[in-house]
Amino acid sequence: MIFFVLRRSFPRDIGGIGEWGWGCVTMVAGAFLFTSRNTLPPLLTIVVANTLIVGGIALMHVSLRRFAGRRAGYRHAAGLVVAVAAGLLWLTMVVDDYRGRLEFVTSVNTLLFGLSALLLFRMEKQGFAERFTGTLFAAEALVSLGRFYFAVTGQDNGSYWNDNSPVHVFYLASFSIALVGLSFGFMLMVTTRVQEKLEYAASHDDLSGAYTRATFFRMMSGEVQRARRQRRPLSLLLIDIDDFKRINDSHGHPAGDAVIRTFAEVTTGELRGHDLLCRYGGEEFALLLPDTALDEAIAVAERIRARFSDGSFDGMPSFTVSLGVQSAEQGALDVAQMIEGADRALYIAKKLGKNRVEIAPELSYTPGTDGLVANRPPAQ
Ligand code: GH3
Ligand code: MG
Ligand code: MG
Repeated sequence: MIFFVLRRSFPRDIGGIGEWGWGCVTMVAGAFLFTSRNTLPPLLTIVVANTLIVGGIALMHVSLRRFAGRRAGYRHAAGLVVAVAAGLLWLTMVVDDYRGRLEFVTSVNTLLFGLSALLLFRMEKQGFAERFTGTLFAAEALVSLGRFYFAVTGQDNGSYWNDNSPVHVFYLASFSIALVGLSFGFMLMVTTRVQEKLEYAASHDDLSGAYTRATFFRMMSGEVQRARRQRRPLSLLLIDIDDFKRINDSHGHPAGDAVIRTFAEVTTGELRGHDLLCRYGGEEFALLLPDTALDEAIAVAERIRARFSDGSFDGMPSFTVSLGVQSAEQGALDVAQMIEGADRALYIAKKLGKNRVEIAPELSYTPGTDGLVANRPPAQ
């Protein structure tokens, strides 16, 4: 029931929650039939009960596959369940073979538990929840394998009506405990993923995928501290798309959105892993370059500028950008000072005709006359 509630309230793209719920329901139904062997016929208490339990484990495997973003594999699961039902029917109605049934069911369970464990240990994003659940699946695979071994070697003398051997009791008990543990593990997997998604949504702008302002400011103040502590340079670029209002007016708002998205995507492709791109305002971006001194920051800025003024992008109106650069040696400037400097540089770039890079006035020697940043004298 908890899984059905979770499925309704959690994001739809987290797959497998409903299947897990149905897996639990199926197994509870199977367990209920199991306990009714004194009142109900063997067709129900053996064939249907075991099929339901195997079906429940198969549903859990399907659930994990969907959670991992793989194809659900309903057909394989259904085929397996039908085969198990047929096998059990034969081992119950044609030849009444308790040990044969045990061997059959435990080998199928070993396979399913093992596959689920493998799937979890091979998952790309693996956290504690995946490892915990994977370990439980692996343990259950081993227990099923052990039960299979004891059934084959005939070390238990139990019969269907009276199997109180320690091996069998351990097998059944571990099964019940594992079911609870597995469900907690899967629930932890699901809630961890929801939390990650919420954190991502809160820290990233949904149009461009760049960081939001609040996240950017928090990270930037950390970077300023670090630059001070480690005596490293730090640079900030403010980037504004030129004449964006005109793009909107002549191509429509969706085209403007596409330009913003393209800008962020292409720019991100130009960056190193630890550079931070933020959507600062409508069509204005901030780009923080840790460990980057002025000359290198200018080179990055110029590369970004040239990327948009020289290139055109599929189905997109062409556009240019203006950039303002502010650098600080050893974290000499605080967050507000860096933003103010970059903003003034950007203002100058717009004044001087757009599609260009300007350096914050405090740091540049002489204002550029030719507009070629590369020809500027180095700062300081
Ligand atoms: P400049 O070259 O001086 O930067 O001029 P501009 O037209 O780019 O700048 P201005 O600030 O005059 O206009 C920016 C426009 O960007 C106004 C606003 O409607 C639009 N805008 C802001 N956010 C979005 C958005 O998310 N999508 C779209 N399509 N347009 C946006
Ligand atoms: Mg603009
Ligand atoms: Mg603007």
